[in-house]
Amino acid sequence: MTFHTLNELIAEGVRGRYVLVRSDLNVPLDGFTVTDDGRIKASLPVLEKLTDAGARVLVTAHLGRPKGAPEEKYSLKPAVARLAELAPFKVVLAEDTVGSSAKELSASLQDGEVLVLENVRFDARETSKDDSQRAQFADELVALTGSNGAFVDDAFGAVHRKHASVYDVATRLPSYQGDLVHTEVEVLQKLTTDTQRPYVVVLGGSKVSDKLAVIDNLLGKADTILVGGGMLFTFLAAVGHQVAGSLLEEDQIPVVKDYLQRAAAAGTEFIVPTDVVVAEKFSADATHETVPADAIEGSSFGAKGIGLDIGPDSAAAFADRIKGAKTVFWNGPMGVFEFEAFSGGTRAVAQALTEADAFTVVGGGDSAAAVRTLGFADDAFGHISTGGGASLEYLEGKELPGLSVLDR
Ligand code: ADP
Ligand code: MG
Repeated sequence: MTFHTLNELIAEGVRGRYVLVRSDLNVPLDGFTVTDDGRIKASLPVLEKLTDAGARVLVTAHLGRPKGAPEEKYSLKPAVARLAELAPFKVVLAEDTVGSSAKELSASLQDGEVLVLENVRFDARETSKDDSQRAQFADELVALTGSNGAFVDDAFGAVHRKHASVYDVATRLPSYQGDLVHTEVEVLQKLTTDTQRPYVVVLGGSKVSDKLAVIDNLLGKADTILVGGGMLFTFLAAVGHQVAGSLLEEDQIPVVKDYLQRAAAAGTEFIVPTDVVVAEKFSADATHETVPADAIEGSSFGAKGIGLDIGPDSAAAFADRIKGAKTVFWNGPMGVFEFEAFSGGTRAVAQALTEADAFTVVGGGDSAAAVRTLGFADDAFGHISTGGGASLEYLEGKELPGLSVLDR
């Protein structure tokens, strides 16, 4: 695929033109406070390039999963407040997406200013499966750009979505790939073609079936897959162990069995934890103990115990493999890192990535947040991706609608 770049658009001239930019401002919030502003910072360079060149920038973005109607807790207000703090240009947030506020504010926008439209998912047409619904919404977004508009997709975290603000607007305006999307795709290419070996993939987190799907395409490509987080219990169950009250996706057991069977022939080794930290309940101050992975029900909490982290032996074994790698892709925390008592596995994996003499990539919103809240610097890693689902789908070999629509 080849794309028109942001630099091409700048070279064409954007002064006084409306440029619609799809950004990824989908940041984690604690109430109305942004807890990780990584995606906001990653969105800044493109907005700066455009405003420096005199464009009138209209930003579309989503936050969370509102149900197609405005909801205060999914307002872009906190994200835009943080953007305004960081930005050297003027930023305003419209009260709606394509309503009277968006229309008035865009009409009075000056060269070099940015207007962010409210959460695109406040409009049910954004994510509609009905092409004509999305088309209608895209037409209304495009209408805000006047007669000489352009579109820049810079929201890597949303390129796997066939949504109006990602896909349909790109079929209506001259469209360009933003620098963030460009960088992310370059990184992913390194993980799929001529990858430096040993190639170690670390998978964890709680979206078990999403994460399991990527393994299919990694068999034969990755040398080693380290299994942690919520999905490890489906692996333990697949080899016949009891997992007590731990996160388990029973319907995925056959899928895991199939992977385990195909792994040896494919030349990929799975490493599943040998010890697990089991807690009495899901809470920060829960009583907990470390037990062998094949004896989870044997903990003091019996059938009620929940595995919330990989144990120290497993963390050390994972760290060893990571340090011996030339390429590492990590998606999904090893445990419930939000609780200090269950953050050890995630911390050990993060530490090992920073020490490895390897190209290291961290993907996934919570994984990125984890390394930052655990105190690691962004530049200690080769790349911290802004996209979780998008990078997984890329690695799965799926077509990403937001990328193919930009193909010229
Ligand atoms: P990412 O956003 O990096 O793709 P996910 O969204 O899949 O990752 O999962 C992140 C969440 O997984 C974290 O909030 C973490 O608390 C949770 N998690 C990790 N291990 C476990 C576990 N053993 N049981 C329940 N939740 C877990
Ligand atoms: Mg997540």
